[in-house]
Amino acid sequence: MASQIIREWAGINSFAPATQTKLLELLGKLKQENVNSLTILVMGKGGVGKSSTVNSLIGERAVSISPFQSEGTRAVMVSRSRAGFTLNIIDTPGLIEGGYVNDMALNNIKSFLLNKTIDVLLYVDRLDAYRVDNLDKEVVKAITDSFGKGIWNRALVVLTHAQLSPPDGLPYEEFVSKRSEALLKVVRLGAGLKKQDAQASSIPVVLVENSGRCNKNEGDEKVLPNGTAWIPHLVQTITEVILSGSKSIYVDKKLIDGPNPNEKGKFLIPLILAIQYFFAIKPIERAIKNDIAKESRPSWEMRDSGVAGRKF
Ligand code: GDP
Ligand code: MG
Repeated sequence: MASQIIREWAGINSFAPATQTKLLELLGKLKQENVNSLTILVMGKGGVGKSSTVNSLIGERAVSISPFQSEGTRAVMVSRSRAGFTLNIIDTPGLIEGGYVNDMALNNIKSFLLNKTIDVLLYVDRLDAYRVDNLDKEVVKAITDSFGKGIWNRALVVLTHAQLSPPDGLPYEEFVSKRSEALLKVVRLGAGLKKQDAQASSIPVVLVENSGRCNKNEGDEKVLPNGTAWIPHLVQTITEVILSGSKSIYVDKKLIDGPNPNEKGKFLIPLILAIQYFFAIKPIERAIKNDIAKESRPSWEMRDSGVAGRKF
């Protein structure tokens, strides 16, 4: 890591001039606040557009994308610097395999992140999906168990494939807000956030269109069906999250090894055993003893003991 040579962020030149100007403005704003580097972690299920989003942000084909879900199990970090500012983006393999969270992929990601600081999490999914299910919740839960609830203070929900015509004639904005609400609800559930938790209501949702066929405005900027130039909007939202006052997540050994959710409350076990002993086992024992003492000898015992003397 120390010997890693950080390349110049040349991809920024591939953006439309207006997009470049806005990005440089945002980087300037971050530097003004003494933020000179930024590490973005990209996570989500497989095939949702994580790697494509990394490439779109960097402005070059930095990581490989695949229409099929064979992403391997390794995370990769792409680093670029521009005008004294370093951008690190960590692309990760999809977390779901065969209907379950892939623990090996998750553990690889965690060890990859050891001693790194996550400034922002991009939780990626597709806009053009109509359902959320238990798997979505499991992915969010796995992320939360790995990095703590605090990660959601630094998270954005990113929805790819945003250039779409909603089904059933729904207006675009309405479709986006319905899909966002459904996903945010699952994030709240999976992360164990209460409705009243500030972070639960403040996770921003941003739209992304990675396709080369993304529409452009007269300034040649890539735009969504609602007219938003999405690259500057995404970077602006990331900037807002960073400057919101919440803490970055430093991934140390303690965070990775525990507190394991299975060990939460382990210190209560002796207490619970003691309570069980005095309030359940003891009374039962006492009851049994009483019973035995009170019990008259059962009839079969009398009969059996009389058998020897009986004649057949
Ligand atoms: P990952 O598995 O989450 O890293 O997903 P990839 O970035 O590898 O993308 C999976 C497939 O979806 C690839 O064929 C991409 O070209 C395609 N894709 C990703 N994002 C978008 C998007 O925003 N719009 C469209 N139309 N296709 C996308
Ligand atoms: Mg990928």
